[in-house]
Amino acid sequence: MNREFQPPNWQANRRLLITGAVIYTPQYLFTAAAPTALLITDGIITWIGNDATTHHDYADAIVDVRGALVLPGFVDAHVHTTNTGIILMGLDLSATTSLAEALTLISAAAKTARGGVLIGHGWDETRWPESRAPTRTEVDRATWGSVAYLSRIDVHSAVASSALLAALPGIEQVAGYRADGLLSRGAHHLAREKALDSIGSGQRASAHRITRSHASAHGIVSMHEMAGPTISSTDDLRELLELAVHEPGPMVTGYWGELASHGGIERAKEIGAIGVAGDLFIDGALGSRTACLRSHYEDEPTTHGAQYLMVEDVEDHVLKATEAGLQAGFHVIGDKATDIVMNGFRAAASRCGAEAIRMGAHRLEHAEMLDDDHIAAMNELCITASMQSMFDSLWGAPGGMYQQRLGSFRAAKMNRLADISSAGVLLALGSDSPVTVMDPWLAVRAATQHHQPQQRLTIDKAINAHTLSGWAAAGTLGVGQLVVGAPAHLAIWEPYELAGPILDLSSGGPKCLRTIVSGATVFDNGTLAEQ
Ligand SMILES: [Zn+2]
Repeated sequence: MNREFQPPNWQANRRLLITGAVIYTPQYLFTAAAPTALLITDGIITWIGNDATTHHDYADAIVDVRGALVLPGFVDAHVHTTNTGIILMGLDLSATTSLAEALTLISAAAKTARGGVLIGHGWDETRWPESRAPTRTEVDRATWGSVAYLSRIDVHSAVASSALLAALPGIEQVAGYRADGLLSRGAHHLAREKALDSIGSGQRASAHRITRSHASAHGIVSMHEMAGPTISSTDDLRELLELAVHEPGPMVTGYWGELASHGGIERAKEIGAIGVAGDLFIDGALGSRTACLRSHYEDEPTTHGAQYLMVEDVEDHVLKATEAGLQAGFHVIGDKATDIVMNGFRAAASRCGAEAIRMGAHRLEHAEMLDDDHIAAMNELCITASMQSMFDSLWGAPGGMYQQRLGSFRAAKMNRLADISSAGVLLALGSDSPVTVMDPWLAVRAATQHHQPQQRLTIDKAINAHTLSGWAAAGTLGVGQLVVGAPAHLAIWEPYELAGPILDLSSGGPKCLRTIVSGATVFDNGTLAEQ
């Protein structure tokens, strides 16, 4: 698949000359020997070199970046734009260090919301001394009986208040319901849908704008929105894609996670999504003990997790998507879930031929528990691994969530970034925001400092996975590098201490000064003046 890059209609039609830079190109990584100047003409990089004087008269504007780094802009290959925006605007529980602190924040937010629907996100009981989720009684008390939906960090379970549960008659009969308000599986999907329904299109548009400007302030030039019937809505994705066409900011590529047999292909085409992929759930998540495992959870021996789709569902979906020319893809986490998805892909390949599957450029989201056979099959069928390196930094530490849920043997084989990349599988990095923050340097750092040293990526590989490979994951080849002829998607970062080809990320990453998409400035922190 090679989807030609479509420039946005707000592309900058002018000539911008950048000078005084350290330009990160495929030949020159972080080195003072790198080229220092770059010319953008009508959204395209038309020259890279050192002697910019010949271009001075020709340029409409010149910006001397005084030693700043210029890198290709980042692609976030897995984003939930509306959820991210709602959290940026509201109740973020991800930094809480105790249940008591979370309840205090919830209570303060309920006061501000004045009886309106309260949506919060990010609590993680594995990081709290109380080691348990809030109960609905506690949430009722903290919110004075409001409708409240508080998702766990992995967004695969949530606590619902009594008022929210009361709006869902019959939910007691649905799998994953618990009387204490901690919902997972089907019950959680119902509660989430109900809570998100309460957001009007005005609030959605604000959430979209806030997320896009947050992304551009972190050097992100493109985001893959993972929409779907239970996690967002057709209106939500349609409005977001429309906004990105008209307002400068990171470009948005839409994926719609609904089975072909449920009308997913027609819906995806009608909205303008390029794939029936993304969060089409084979299973849930480890934190919520809904990731589908071959054997039981270490810390709850009665469960193997949840399985939402069968091999035949995967096979049918992949065949129909391939035939329709759309990317197919799935959310997959547990080892058993990965068996299911790969058996489905293999079955589809035996029906329509491996070459047709390869041409489809299908993808798997998360792919946290791959064994060697899975990796080999993904390589053979050209299936992209869309992964979140930050998962390892959050949960991969000794004694961390992976070890609690899986025991140390299985926990040591999670998120095999280096194995996947060196096998030749296309690896694209993303945040899964709001599950982890949209901050590509943190993701690059996490990939270079994986808890399993043999799974660490070199910094240039990690940057590639977060730039070039992100475009390729959406079927757009050759975009995402600073080379002549490529669209000018780049970010300018504050001058930084360079040690050969390495950027020292121990204190986070450099600060973003400016982000440019197709030659248009979509973020400017005000430091750099044009002349
Ligand atoms: Zn997701």
